[in-house]
This record gives sequence, C-alpha cells and structure tokens, in this order.
Amino acid sequence: MRIGIDLGGTKIEGILLADDGVVVEKLRVDTPAENYEATVAAVCRVVGSLQPSAGEACKVGIGTPGALTMNTEVMKNCNSICLNGKPLKKDIEDQLNYEVIIENDANCFALSEACYGAGKNMATVFGVILGTGTGGGLVINKKLHTGPNRIAGEWGHNSIPDSVRKLIDSDRQCYCERDNCIETVLSGRGLKQSHLERTGNSLEAIEIAALAGSGDEPSRTSIDVYSQQLARCLSTAINIFDPEMIVLGGGLSNIQSLYETVPKYMEGFVFTDVILTKLSAPTFGDASGALGAACLWPID
Ligand SMILES: [Zn+2]
Repeated sequence: MRIGIDLGGTKIEGILLADDGVVVEKLRVDTPAENYEATVAAVCRVVGSLQPSAGEACKVGIGTPGALTMNTEVMKNCNSICLNGKPLKKDIEDQLNYEVIIENDANCFALSEACYGAGKNMATVFGVILGTGTGGGLVINKKLHTGPNRIAGEWGHNSIPDSVRKLIDSDRQCYCERDNCIETVLSGRGLKQSHLERTGNSLEAIEIAALAGSGDEPSRTSIDVYSQQLARCLSTAINIFDPEMIVLGGGLSNIQSLYETVPKYMEGFVFTDVILTKLSAPTFGDASGALGAACLWPID
C-alpha cells in the first residue's frame, strides 16, 4: 500500500493505493489559504487518516506544482506561494517521523500514466503537460528518471527549434527571462498569442479549441499550426529520449485532432525514417496527481 498526496493551491487530495493500482480510499480537504504551518499540518492529517486502513506502515509520495531546490531542499516555483522558500519535505518528515518523496506535478502525471494509464505496457514514457506551462517527466521501467539537477524532462524551457521560430511572428519572452522557450509557444498562453498574431482576435486557448471543433476556419488554422509547432518540438525530445510513448496531459491535451495530426507532422523532423513512438491521450487527466504521487515509491 502506498499513499499519494496531491498538494494543490485549493485542495489537498490523498489516496491509498494498492499495488494493483486500485484506489482503496480517497480523501479531499481544502488547502489552508496562504498559511504554511497549517498546510504542513493538513497534509500530515490526511496521511494520518489514510494510514490506519493500510494496516501497515505506508510509503508516502507528495506531488506539488513546485519543486525542491537541489542544494537547500526548500521549495521553489510553487503557485501556492506560502510554500516557496520553505523546507516542506523536512517539515512533513519531522511530523510523520519517516521519509517522504516530493515531486512536481508533471513528474507525477508522467508516473501515473506510465504505471497504470495509457503507457502501462510501455517501458519508456514521456509525459507532457500542455496547459498553463509545458512541464514534462520521463519514466523508465515504471521509475521516474530524475538526474542530478532534478530537471529531467523539463523540455518547456528549451528554446524552440528554428523550424518553429518560422511559425511565429516575433520573439517571445519567457518568465524565466530567456527568449522563445517552448512554453511561450505550446502553453495555453502560447496558443492564445499565436492566434492573436494571426487573426487579431484575443481568445483563450479553450475558446480557440472549441471554435475549431465547430468548424471556424481561422481557429482550425491556429490549431493546425499549433499541431505543427508541437510536432516539431516533440521531435527534438524524441531524438534525445526516444520514448516508446508520449502521453499528453493538461487542458490542451483535450484537443482530439492533435493525436491524428501531430504524428504526421513529426515526419521529417525525427531522425529516423519510420517513427514508432506512439502519441496518446491521458487515461487519468486531472485525477493523475495523487495517483502519480503514490507511484513515486516503486513497488518492491
Ligand atoms: Zn523559459
């Protein structure tokens, strides 16, 4: 039995997961607003509530939108800003009296899909979130590949290939202070910007996708161009990781046409004649956080 916690900005969701992937118990509480100590206490309470049902000591994994910095073990880049700069892992471990694993939400998404979802029969899975940002996580034989910098799979802050630069009007500055990161093109905001440049209309990504679905020609074109941009950026990732499957997550993964067009547009951009990497929709979608967090502990 493993416990997975999804620590979000508004909700803390906890699950008790059996080794066969069945969620035995589920619990959801509000995240205390902007109060760090109360958030740590709430996470520990959720763990404490789930633990008795397991009948044994549990392994606990926690997924959050941010990440632990390498040297100082404090949180960074959390949208729940009260966590930033705080030693979340240590403080939770001090209360629980055992080790926990904390990972960002993109890694938890990739793990959930690789262990029990679309990629469960694949040895190597690259999970990609296309939403507010463009995170990613790489799973090899059901284990998260991390690396010394803990940034494995973070393709969103690579620069776009020149072939994608040709598909946008002007350079785009990223919040990370570099220009033309993949995220500036493939996030929801990126699609919005591309559509604005092309049509003069400022629409949210979800509106563009809906209009495209109902046959609106300018929106269809924007989604088609987005498919080409996604295909070319993913091609660079395939050339490095060569995963058996890429699973898309996040809001933009709901655009069904991507699964047909992106593989076609990859042709000629991946360094091979026949591309065997599969592109898949997610099985769990937004429900992946707590599940993936539980999978942070591999089954013995
Ligand atoms: Zn960036």
